[in-house]
Amino acid sequence: MTKPKRSPVAADFAHIRDWVFDLDNTLYPHHVNLFAQIDQNMTAYVSELLQLEREEARALQKRYYHEHGTTLQGLMLNHGINPDAFLERAHAIDYSALLPHPELGEAIKALPGRKFIFTNGSVPHAEAAARALGILDHFDDIFDIVAADYIPKPAGATYDKFASLHRVDTRHAAMFEDLPRNLKVPKALGMRTVLLAPRNLDDVLVERWEVLSEEDDHIDYLTDDLQGFLSALAAR
Ligand SMILES: [Mg+2]
Repeated sequence: MTKPKRSPVAADFAHIRDWVFDLDNTLYPHHVNLFAQIDQNMTAYVSELLQLEREEARALQKRYYHEHGTTLQGLMLNHGINPDAFLERAHAIDYSALLPHPELGEAIKALPGRKFIFTNGSVPHAEAAARALGILDHFDDIFDIVAADYIPKPAGATYDKFASLHRVDTRHAAMFEDLPRNLKVPKALGMRTVLLAPRNLDDVLVERWEVLSEEDDHIDYLTDDLQGFLSALAAR
């Protein structure tokens, strides 16, 4: 495979008009671990819904996640739940671990073109997280799991829906994500792809290179510092 680049080369981004960001573990770092709270809320929801012990509920939650891409999708297909109630419950979390990050805001603001959040979570969750980071105002729109008809990334139809809704020319767009599998379709659509690794990249490098195999040719860039990456681009 071609190794992903680490520092942004200006020419690789000169044609970009639309900047697309995943939310969780991308716009804030992995170590903040908001997901631990969401994860617990989802377990509690499954436990109450199906009257299961915590461990059983957790196993089912994880099974649905692996089989359907999100726990929500598994619950909708198998139990016909109301997705809005589930999303509200899952995202009833404490956002205080997210601190304002003005440098990140400046770096996003300085990017030429439109900026989007594209998340498998909900709009209220994305707004709350981005607001806590102090970066919400820099985004043109948020495309969430509701807009995606509850079909999560990495389904191709969901990227198509996003691109057509916002008239994004994917050949002139860049995507930032922490999950390698969610960058496959973007790369196939001609997008520039940037994978966010947990901090510190050097510590996880060996592990990551194992994760990044021959099949991971769809990752153009790898970074553990979104703000540093974007600031370097803005300074081009
Ligand atoms: Mg993510």
